[in-house]
Amino acid sequence: MSSSTRDVYFVIGGSGFLGRHIVESLLARGDIVAVFDVVQRYHDVPFYSGDISEGEQVADALRKSGATCIIHTASPAHGLEDPALYWKVNVDGTAAVIAAAQAVGIRKLVYTSSAGVVFNGQNLINVDERLPYPEKAMDAYNESKAKAEALVLEANGQNGLLTVALRPAGIFGPGDRQVMSGLRDVYESNRTHFQVGDNNNLFDWTYVGNVAHAHLLAADKLSEPQEQELAQRRKDFSTTPLS
Ligand code: NAD
Repeated sequence: MSSSTRDVYFVIGGSGFLGRHIVESLLARGDIVAVFDVVQRYHDVPFYSGDISEGEQVADALRKSGATCIIHTASPAHGLEDPALYWKVNVDGTAAVIAAAQAVGIRKLVYTSSAGVVFNGQNLINVDERLPYPEKAMDAYNESKAKAEALVLEANGQNGLLTVALRPAGIFGPGDRQVMSGLRDVYESNRTHFQVGDNNNLFDWTYVGNVAHAHLLAADKLSEPQEQELAQRRKDFSTTPLS
C-alpha cells in the first residue's frame, strides 16, 4: 500500500476548476476526500463551507474531516480590481491555513502557486526554481501568490508539517471558467486585430487533468526524506547549471 492511500485528503477550493479535477482524481484511485470552499457545487464528498481567511473555520473543518493531507487550491480569480481581496485570501488566508494545519497536527500541505510568481514581463528561458522572485511583481494577484508560496515553503518542517508548492502556468480543460470565456469575450468584442510583440512568444499551457495528477504525485512524495537521499538531492541541485 502506498503512503498516499493512507492519507485523508482535504481539498481547499475543491469546488473550483482545478480543485474539482483533484477531487475526481483522488476518488478515482479510491482515496477519502473532503472539500472546503466558500461555495458548494458538487455533492459527492463531505463538504465544509468556509472562508480560509477565518482560521477557526478551517481548523474546525480539519478536525471534523479527519484529514491528514491538505491540498490548497483556493484563490480569487486573476484580473480582479481589488488588490486587498488577493492579500486577504491568498496571504492572510494561506497563513491561516498553515496555522490551522499545525494546530490540528496535519502532516502534509500541497499548495497551488502560479508560474506568474517569478514573471515580471521579461522572457524566462531555461529557468528553474532557483530564480528569485522579481523585485516588482506583475500585479497584485501574482504578488499575493508569491507571498503565499513563500509562507508555505517557510512552514516546511515546522511543527510536523511537510509542505510543497506547485507553479502551473495556464491551465485548460473541462470546467474552466476563466480562460475560454476570456478568449471568447475578446473574439466577440472584435478585439482580435492587433498583436503584442513579434508573435513568437511562447507560453506554457497544461491540461487540467495533468495539473491535478501533479498535485497527487507531490502529495505522495511529500514524506520525510532520509538524510542520505537529501544529501544526494542537494548535490545534484547545486551542480546543475542555471542557464
Ligand atoms: P477557480 O476559481 O475555479 O477555483 C478556486 C476555488 O477557490 C473556487 O471554488 C472558490 O470558491 C474557492 N475560494 C476562493 N476564495 C476562497 C476562500 N476565501 N475560502 C475558501 N475557498 C475559496 O480557480 P482555478 O482556475 O481552479 O485555480 C485554482 C488555483 O490554481 C488557484 O490557486 C490559482 O491561483 C492557481 N492557478 C490557476 C491557473 C489557471 O490557469 N486557472 C494558472 C496558474 C495557477
